[in-house]
Amino acid sequence: MGGVIVRGVTFAAGAPRVLMAGPCAVEGEEMIHAIAAAVAASGGAFLRGGAYKPRTSPRDFQGIGAPALAWMRAAADAHGLGVVTEVLSEADVDLVAGAADIVQIGSRNAQNFALLRAVGATGRPVLLKRGAAMTLREWRGAVEHLRAGGARDVILCERGSRTYETEYRNALDVCGIAIMAAEGLPVIVDPSHSAGRRDMVLPVLRAGIAAGACGAIVEVHPAPDAALSDGAQSLPLSALASVAEALR
Ligand code: PEP
Ligand code: MN
Repeated sequence: MGGVIVRGVTFAAGAPRVLMAGPCAVEGEEMIHAIAAAVAASGGAFLRGGAYKPRTSPRDFQGIGAPALAWMRAAADAHGLGVVTEVLSEADVDLVAGAADIVQIGSRNAQNFALLRAVGATGRPVLLKRGAAMTLREWRGAVEHLRAGGARDVILCERGSRTYETEYRNALDVCGIAIMAAEGLPVIVDPSHSAGRRDMVLPVLRAGIAAGACGAIVEVHPAPDAALSDGAQSLPLSALASVAEALR
């Protein structure tokens, strides 16, 4: 198993490291255009952003849904970026796959086997996050479910595991990154959902890269403290330059 190429961008050891960045959630049309411009200006290749958000509480912002997909697609196209966005439900697979260059399976759905197969069946490249309590063997099993469904291009994303620690969000498994990368699977690092705090995003990103990640997915927001989700871990757009530099 070698690398994965999406829109001419290579995810593989030794290739230039790929930057995916954007808000946790797409909150509006103007904001996603402003973010896309900043991501493109920093050398990013993909715009991330959730139209459908998996939230712990049903009272929290759940994402805008279908309109957000269209805004994100237009913003990415306007700036020469690809789109990576999460699908939460089998019911939305075709809609999301129609708007995304890479369909994201979130950590909470990493062992939702029916969803994995349905996403695999679209033939779209997939970004498979690791579940917060998944072993490497279980992660490989999820890849097999995607492939059994029909997926050819699968990129893994390490975003940390839940532990007893409360001062950061999820413990990044650098050993897990190293093992998956050594097996030839393209793996990227998500330092945002691991750190859970803006001041630790860059060091955690560097650790993931040192372990063998071929890229990173990072949350950014024009006004992080006003973000509707994950503001504490979101970097301001002005930090994109240092993120890009850390990747190089
Ligand atoms: C996300 O990327 O927006 C997200 C919800 O991440 P995770 O599935 O890793 O929690
Ligand atoms: Mn988030």
